[in-house]
Amino acid sequence: MASVEPLKPNPPRKQPSLSRRLGGIFILAVALAIGVAWVAAVGYLFVNQRDATLDALRTDAGMLSTNAGAAFRFGGRTAVEETLGSLSRNPAVRWAFITRGDVVLASFGPAPNGAPTWDAQISPGSDHDFQVSLLGLRQKVEFDGRTQGWLYMEADLGPSNLRFLLMALLTFSFALLIVALALRVFQGRLRSIVTPILALTDLARKVTSSGDMSLRTDVTGYREVSRLGEDFNRMLVALERRSVSVQQELEDRRRIESHVEHLASYDHVTHLPNRHYFRNRLDLAVDKANRASEQMALLLIDLDNFKSVNVDLGHYAGDKLLEEVARRLSALLQSGDVICRIGGDEFAIILENLDIRGQAGQLAGRIITALQAPFMLEGNKTQVTASVGIACAPRDTTDSLTLVRFADAAMYRAKELGKNRWEQFSAEMRPKGRRPLEIKSQIRLGIQQAQFVLHFQPQFELATGRVIGAESLMRWQHPERGLLSPSHFIEVAEESGLIVPLGDLLLNQLCRQIKEWRAEGVPLPRISFNVSGRQFAQSGFMDRVLEILKDTGCPAGALEIELTESTLLMPGTDLVRTLETLNSRGLAIAVDDFGTGFSSITYLKHLPIDKLKVDKRFVDDIAENPNDLAIARAIVALGKSLQLDVVAEGVETLEQGKLLREIGCPSMQGYLMSRPLPAAKFAEFCNAHPELRQAGT
Ligand code: C2E
Ligand code: CA
Ligand code: CA
Repeated sequence: MASVEPLKPNPPRKQPSLSRRLGGIFILAVALAIGVAWVAAVGYLFVNQRDATLDALRTDAGMLSTNAGAAFRFGGRTAVEETLGSLSRNPAVRWAFITRGDVVLASFGPAPNGAPTWDAQISPGSDHDFQVSLLGLRQKVEFDGRTQGWLYMEADLGPSNLRFLLMALLTFSFALLIVALALRVFQGRLRSIVTPILALTDLARKVTSSGDMSLRTDVTGYREVSRLGEDFNRMLVALERRSVSVQQELEDRRRIESHVEHLASYDHVTHLPNRHYFRNRLDLAVDKANRASEQMALLLIDLDNFKSVNVDLGHYAGDKLLEEVARRLSALLQSGDVICRIGGDEFAIILENLDIRGQAGQLAGRIITALQAPFMLEGNKTQVTASVGIACAPRDTTDSLTLVRFADAAMYRAKELGKNRWEQFSAEMRPKGRRPLEIKSQIRLGIQQAQFVLHFQPQFELATGRVIGAESLMRWQHPERGLLSPSHFIEVAEESGLIVPLGDLLLNQLCRQIKEWRAEGVPLPRISFNVSGRQFAQSGFMDRVLEILKDTGCPAGALEIELTESTLLMPGTDLVRTLETLNSRGLAIAVDDFGTGFSSITYLKHLPIDKLKVDKRFVDDIAENPNDLAIARAIVALGKSLQLDVVAEGVETLEQGKLLREIGCPSMQGYLMSRPLPAAKFAEFCNAHPELRQAGT
C-alpha cells in the first residue's frame, strides 16, 4: 500500500497579505493617475494665468506708448507724466517709467528698493521678463514712426500667485479626498472577495486538525469564489464518504478478528479457554520452565461418570454440570494458574513455577474433594467423581506433547486404580513404543538412503470442483515398517533437529520433480510445502530456500510455503523480511492450521499472506458442533475481508463439504475429493484435469 507523505508545514516566514498588497497597488495607481492629472491641470492654469497678466500689461503698455508718444511731441515732460498717471487704474502695475537715452523722463509709482534694472533684465529679443513675483515689460514709445524713448512697466505678481497657490492647495486636498474615498470603496469590495477565501482557509485548517469531514463552508461571494466554495464542499462530501466506508471496513475487520479470536480460544459452555488455547499456553509454559529450570505441572482431569449424567438427565443437564465443575475448579486456583476445557468432560490445569514439593498433588487432592460434593441438576442430586493425572516439566520431559501423553498415562492409571483419585506420572507408566533414539538413527539413515518421498494432495474450488492447488506431504518408505506418515516420526525429527536436513532434502526433491513434470508437459497447480517452526527459525533458512530454487531452476511461482500460526508468532525470527523476500520472488504464503493460535491475529495484516488453511479440527465436527461451524464461518469472513484465499482442510464427508459451501468457503482439501497421491498418480491426476492446462501452469 502506498504511504502518504505528511505535508510539511510552510517555513515560518512573513508572507504579505493579499488584501494589503492589492490595496497598496490600487492606491499607488489611483494616486499616480490623480497626481499626474493634477500636475498637468495646475501647470496649465499657472502658465495661462501668467500669459493673461502679460497680455493685460501689453494692452496697457500699447495704449500708453501711443499716448506717451503724442505727449512727447506736444506736451512735454508734464504731459508724459499725466499719461503715466492713467496706470493707477491697473492695481497690478506697481511702477512704470519712460526713458530717453539714459534719462528718465517720467515715472509712475515709487521705485522699489533693490528693484531690477529692467533694461538689463529683459533680453534683447524679448519684450518681457518674469521673475518669481514680478513681471517686467518693455515697450517702444513712437510718434510718426520715430522712436521717442522706452516705456518700462513692472507688475506685482504676488497677489495672483497667492490666489493660484490657494487654488492649487484646494484642488490637491480635493484629489486626496477622492483617493481616500476610492480606497474605502475598493477595500469594501476587496473584503467581500477575500473574506470567503479566508473562511475556506480556516475550514481547511479545521478539517485537517480535527479530521471532521462533516464541516462545510457557506457558498457566498462572487461567482468564482462561490464556485471554489462549492467545489471544496463537494470534495469534503467525497472525503467523508470515503472515510465512513474505510471506518466501516476497519470496524468490520476488527469485529471479525476479535470474534475469530474469541471463538477459537473459548469454550461456550463453561466460558473457559479451549483446547486450542491450551495447546499454545502449554507450549509457552513448558518452554519457560525449560529455560528457567523451574518446575511446572500439568493436571489432566477427567470426570468418571459424566456420560451417564448426559444419558440420564439429558444434554442440557450435562452442560449445567460442566459449568458447575468449571466453577468449582476455578475457585481452587490461584492467580497465574491456567484452566482449560480440552474435551467433552476433560479439563486441564497448568501450574507454573512450583516452589513447594507436592504442590500439584495437594491441588489434585482438593479437586477430588471439591467434586465429591453433590450437584443439583434439574432438581436431582447428582454425584460425580474425577480422576486426575499429573506430569511435570522439565522433571518428566522437556517436550509439551510428551508431557500431555505422560499426564494422560497418569490419569489412566488413576482410572485403573479405581477412579476418584489422582496419580503422578512415573517412569513405569511410559508408553511402550519405539525408543526415540532408535528412530533418530533410522531417520538419519533414511535421509542418506533416500527413503523419504513426497505425496501430493490436491485442493479444489468448492463452487466448481476445479483444482486450484496441491499440498506436498512427506512419507517415509521404511524398509521394515512400510510407508509411514509423519505422525510416526515427525516429533523425533523435530526434537532432534533432523527436520532441518530432511526439509532441505524434500524441498530439493520437490523442486526437481516440478522441473521434471514441466519438462514432460504435465500441467501443474501451485504446490505447497510444509515448514515447521524449528526449520523456519534456523538461521539461513531463507537463503537455503533461494539457493535450492536457483540450483534446481524451479520457478518460485510454482511453490507455496505453509507455515503454522505459531511459527508466524514466534519471537526473534526475522519473519517479516524473510516472508517479504520470498513473496517478492513469487512464492505464495499460506497459514497452516489456522484458528488454533490464541494471540492477536493482527499479524495477518502486516505479513504478505495469500491463503488461510482452516484447521482440520474445526472441519471434523463442523456438522455437530455449532461452535466449530461458527469458527469456520468467521475465518471465511476474515479471509474475505483481508482478500485471502481460504482452504478448509480434512474434508471427509459430503455434509462437511455442503456446510462449507453454505458458509461461502472458497476451497477445500480432504479425503472426500482425493487422498494424498504418490508422485506418479498425481501426475496422472493433473493430466486428467483439463482446467490445469487452461490455467497454463
Ligand atoms: P498438515 O500440514 O496439517 O497436513 C494435513 C494432514 O491432513 C496430512 O497428514 C493429510 O494427509 C491429512 N489429511 C488431508 N485430508 C484429510 C482428511 O480428509 N482426513 C484426514 N483424517 N486427514 C486428512 P499427514 O500427511 O499425515 O501430515 C501430518 C502433518 O505432518 C502435516 O499436517 C504437517 O504438519 C506435517 N508434515 C507433512 N509433510 C511435511 C513436510 O514435508 N515437512 C514438514 N515440516 N512437516 C510435514
Ligand atoms: Ca500443511
Ligand atoms: Ca494443516
